[in-house]
Amino acid sequence: MNTRELLSRFHAVASDPRGQMKKYLEAGERVVLTAPVYTPEELVHAMGLVPMGAWGADMPLEGAKEYFPAFICSVMQSILELGMKGVYDGASAIVIPSLCDSLKCLGQNWKYAVPAIPFIPMTYPQNRWGRVGTGFTRAGYERVIADLERATGAKFDPAGLAESIKVYNAHNAAMRRLDEALAVHAEIGAAQRSDLFKSAFFMKKEEHTAWVEELLAALEGEEPGAPKIKVMTTGILCDSPALLDIFDDLGLHIAADDVAAQSRQYRTDCAETGDPLDALAEKFAAMGCCSVLYDPDKKRPRTVVEQAKARGAKGVVVALTKFCDPEEFDVPFIKRECQAAGLPVALVEIDRQMVNFEQARTLLETFRDVLE
Ligand code: SF4
Repeated sequence: MNTRELLSRFHAVASDPRGQMKKYLEAGERVVLTAPVYTPEELVHAMGLVPMGAWGADMPLEGAKEYFPAFICSVMQSILELGMKGVYDGASAIVIPSLCDSLKCLGQNWKYAVPAIPFIPMTYPQNRWGRVGTGFTRAGYERVIADLERATGAKFDPAGLAESIKVYNAHNAAMRRLDEALAVHAEIGAAQRSDLFKSAFFMKKEEHTAWVEELLAALEGEEPGAPKIKVMTTGILCDSPALLDIFDDLGLHIAADDVAAQSRQYRTDCAETGDPLDALAEKFAAMGCCSVLYDPDKKRPRTVVEQAKARGAKGVVVALTKFCDPEEFDVPFIKRECQAAGLPVALVEIDRQMVNFEQARTLLETFRDVLE
């Protein structure tokens, strides 16, 4: 397959998660939904179940409004809406982590709004370090395992987890190499870049790794396209096709990202030695530079600047999910750090219900003119 064909394959999966889920169900697999952010997918995978990312969808909200106030993020609302509309029918359970207040509400509402799909909470500690922090995380994982066994009948085995950790580490490594390649290959547009990351949530990681390796091999044999204006994105999500088309129309090349649904997922590997459950808890402790992870030193803004500079980005686009408190708290720090480093910042507010991005287009047009 050539690069164009490989990219279309990723697009087909990214744009049809229900179709992908159906394929697994028809093949006799059991699917477990994993809500953002940092759900311990390795546990699901280790039990022979298929983890399927549930990050919501761009759609109007109806039923979910009966459960949520209007001022809660549309990521949560659209996950519940999809559940209520039957889009996740056939899933054996949903694992929802407790990393922000909205996520805590989602779990509680899910129990009543979508009773057919059991809700499994993953309760993370705020202070995730040291014996107490990792012990708390490990206890959370044990609870998830027990709930998964009850909901699916599958059995947990530490040796299986050790194997799954290797699969996830290999995927992390492939995604980091892909991210580096995308920083050079300006001909791959913002929407195509998003497909590469988004498809990972809807495929078994070993299958996604194989596809990514194939794409990397194809790209190695190709001359990168003409350079465009490099920018870096940061936020929780940046996958709206209408918004990404604007990047492409304006010749803005996403050369790096600090997006929770994209590169943030792949920064931290898990140790492949020792007790695998402890190793997974240590992996969570080692994660950082993310709005939903407690960080008294606020290292994220510095990391954004360093990464943007290292990739030659001329500016930073903050894709701010409306009503996302954790991200809103970080924005002033990111702006201050970028301004001090001479990096212009554009803030685009996004919402899964948005259909008109003309305001964002005008803003990004002006931003592009500033960067030129
Ligand atoms: S982190 Fe932000 S976008 Fe994600 S669930 Fe919480 S409020 Fe919503």
